[in-house]
Amino acid sequence: MAFLSEPEPVRDRAEPVLTGVRRIVAANSGPMTYHGTNTYLIDTAGGTIVLDPGPDLPDHVAAIVGAAPRVIAILVSHRHPDHFGAAAALRGATGAPIAAYPASGPGDVLTPDLPLAEGQSFGPILPLHTPGHAADHLCFAYRTSDGERVLFSGDHVMSWSSSVVSPPGGNMRAYFASLERLLGRDDTLYLPGHGPKLPDPHHLVRDLLAHRRAREAAIAARLGDGAADTATLTDALYAKQHPTLRRAAERNVLAHLRKLEEEGRVAQLGAKWKLAG
Ligand SMILES: [Zn+2]
Repeated sequence: MAFLSEPEPVRDRAEPVLTGVRRIVAANSGPMTYHGTNTYLIDTAGGTIVLDPGPDLPDHVAAIVGAAPRVIAILVSHRHPDHFGAAAALRGATGAPIAAYPASGPGDVLTPDLPLAEGQSFGPILPLHTPGHAADHLCFAYRTSDGERVLFSGDHVMSWSSSVVSPPGGNMRAYFASLERLLGRDDTLYLPGHGPKLPDPHHLVRDLLAHRRAREAAIAARLGDGAADTATLTDALYAKQHPTLRRAAERNVLAHLRKLEEEGRVAQLGAKWKLAG
């Protein structure tokens, strides 16, 4: 797949990305987060919209407050700690409301001040509900003053890596549908939750779908040789050695199996899975 890379960014400083959009990369680099979470600052006439406050790190919050004297809203792409962790601290520091998808399910960790519904504009920003990586995941469409059609793609589509789809919050059927949905749009540039900006985004979205379809076919082929558990399937399908990445890969395998189960193609047998019928 045509993933992108970038040099390690300057920490705790807002750097311009596009006309009216700046980025601060949080200092939470890691095997799942690349150089760290991207916090975007969208500068409007009325003040700055912060998109994904990022992890709860005091230096990161201070950098946001220092770069944006008047924060008017804190938008959250989804309720994973590397994206929303700093929301409460930033609200405390700025008084700005937190805006997110209404709920993420039982045990919700964040009640937004402003629930963001699918397709209901928030100033210059249009939220799109794109479940898959997370049930509450929103992408945000935005047009810059020079006409660039931007999609803030969160962790749904990232330039540097594929996404983890981990049940029960993650849902592979929803993820496929949310990727297909993006192919029906004409956004010209994605700004993801991790990694550099992604031009010509449909190219990667098609690759991501093809990659998942190939994984799904490989799982079905392996189950054709007999019932197997997720660990066995992961060993057969993935070469990942890093324990964190291997765990993530096994969650993806489970998500594929649940999708195939919903489609009536596989069935669970205790800890193992087999082809249905
Ligand atoms: Zn993330």
